Amino acid sequence: MRMNFDPIIHHFSHEHPLKRMNLQDQTTKTVTCSGCEFEASGWVYGCNTCNYFLHKPCSKMPEILNHPFDPDHTLLLFPNPVYPGGAFICDACREIGTGFSYHCTECQIDLHNLCAFLPTSVNHSSHHHTLDLWSGSPYKNEEFLCDICQDPGSKQWLYRCNSCQFDAHMSCALVDIQFQHTSKVQKRERQQLGKP
Ligand SMILES: [Zn+2]
Ligand SMILES: [Zn+2]
Ligand SMILES: [Zn+2]
Ligand SMILES: [Zn+2]
Ligand SMILES: [Zn+2]
Ligand SMILES: [Zn+2]
Repeated sequence: MRMNFDPIIHHFSHEHPLKRMNLQDQTTKTVTCSGCEFEASGWVYGCNTCNYFLHKPCSKMPEILNHPFDPDHTLLLFPNPVYPGGAFICDACREIGTGFSYHCTECQIDLHNLCAFLPTSVNHSSHHHTLDLWSGSPYKNEEFLCDICQDPGSKQWLYRCNSCQFDAHMSCALVDIQFQHTSKVQKRERQQLGKP
């Protein structure tokens, strides 16, 4: 397989070239990806002078994105929030962001780079149908009650089974994906086996 991981890249978000490096070889200080703002470890692109690092996937995100929730426009990737305060509120998860954002000026949409690539449908063990990504609550007051954690949500994207009116926070619906093949499934299988 071809190694699709160039030793040096020029990324539009940074004035210096970014070098491929393995953070495991470096000191134990915690390093944050300037794109998604999550911890970076292992192989990344970075500029040690500026302490600027990007996960490889974050370095490859397209500068122009067509998103199903804004079909009439294209979203542009901005390395820094477009607002003077240096932060944005993500329309998907409603959390503050200071790293990369996908932005539409006309619609005032701002999305974390990772939130822009959420799966449009997921399966969760707590519901027997596929859950679809919705860009907002279908209820009048824009609020909903998460059927997984029972906590309310408001003005954020959610995963929903429309026919059953089953609503879930994105974080609740997606947690299962991460752990699907580990503890939760094993635990559930053990429980099922234990049944008479
Ligand atoms: Zn990242
Ligand atoms: Zn630099
Ligand atoms: Zn977000
Ligand atoms: Zn738009
Ligand atoms: Zn929830
Ligand atoms: Zn359903």
